[in-house]
Amino acid sequence: MTTTDTRTSDAARALFTASFGAEPVGTWSSPGRVNLIGEHTDYNDGFVLPFAIQHRTHVALAPREDGRVRVVSTFDERTVEASLAELHALFPERRDEIPEWARYPLGVAWALLEASATHPESVTGVDLAFASDVPVGAGLSSSAAIEGATAVALAETWGLDLDRVALAQIGRRAENEAVGAPTGIMDQMASLLGRADSAIFLDCRTLDANVINLGFAAAGLELVVIDTGVKHSHATGGYGERRAACERGAAALGVPALRDVSLDDLPRLAELVDEVTFRRVRHVVTENQRVLDTVQTLREQGPTAIGDLLVASHASMRDDFEISVPELDTAVEAALSAGAVGARMTGGGFGGAAIALVAHDKVQAVTDAATAAFAASGFAAPTIFTVAPSAGAARD
Ligand code: ADP
Ligand code: MG
Repeated sequence: MTTTDTRTSDAARALFTASFGAEPVGTWSSPGRVNLIGEHTDYNDGFVLPFAIQHRTHVALAPREDGRVRVVSTFDERTVEASLAELHALFPERRDEIPEWARYPLGVAWALLEASATHPESVTGVDLAFASDVPVGAGLSSSAAIEGATAVALAETWGLDLDRVALAQIGRRAENEAVGAPTGIMDQMASLLGRADSAIFLDCRTLDANVINLGFAAAGLELVVIDTGVKHSHATGGYGERRAACERGAAALGVPALRDVSLDDLPRLAELVDEVTFRRVRHVVTENQRVLDTVQTLREQGPTAIGDLLVASHASMRDDFEISVPELDTAVEAALSAGAVGARMTGGGFGGAAIALVAHDKVQAVTDAATAAFAASGFAAPTIFTVAPSAGAARD
């Protein structure tokens, strides 16, 4: 573990002791993620290329005898508790009775029991204390980090024989049904399967996952995150509306998902749907191709050659999918003008962060340019930091 990571792990232990008056048996953790390319392709059965980052959510755990589960987080120090036996009655119907953040870990507990057909009385109760250094709502998937940490901690404690892909599906089910956020599976797969210096090339239809060497450090490159501070929310209409447009496009072409649409099909689609739906579909279809091109470029030419694909991805999200905001466009333009190899918004859009691939000796110039551009536009100062492709979920 790195120093920051040790601190966050210690914070989880300290919160555990303060909240539950005992020592945990161990800590587990799972990372946030950055999506290098492939945005809004996941729920269209397409391709994505995320990597796990060094920011992690840690959970300290100890079993308890009475079949209850208690959760506490540094985000909200009130303990939330339920009995394992009542989780199936709480989710999804009565989820509103539980504070929103606690639906993530309790939802994972519920989905784990369901997926493994485990009777709640056959496993031990647990106390869980969470601490995290993953920025929340910045498009870095603090949600997948808390789900992943909970999933690996409980699966080991309960002796459940579930592989990483199964744990990712459990995290997604918790997020979809226990929290009520209609997200895809990319975040959980990245958080659970991440590897140092590597991205996960994921086929969201088959869940085939391939580790792709990124080689950023060897090429003298850094991945800079420019967090605009603009909070996105899956609850607002934009996300659902984009999904609906994608479904309309697939239905018009008579295919199960936009994954099945190629660039050659686009002229025909233009005749079948309205102009807005057409542009939404064009984003997904071209973005899928860009993921494939990025993987090929990384393999054949290395990371310095992927800049144009990142820039094209941003333009497509800004103009066709219309999920960018002025702060994200400003961040991307400032980074490129200061010499970034490539830059794009990352995550679901409507706020969150941009990423820029930058030569080591230009990181300061990119940071200064983005800071200055935000000030000149009257935006709140962005938070800027670098991320390194890192390992996925593990016991600490
Ligand atoms: P993102 O995943 O982009 O950070 P989401 O809205 O998907 O944003 O998930 C953020 C939510 O996840 C938080 O509002 C909170 O409910 C929950 N969450 C994430 N990390 C923690 C944590 N360490 N402790 C408690 N809740 C957390
Ligand atoms: Mg999330």
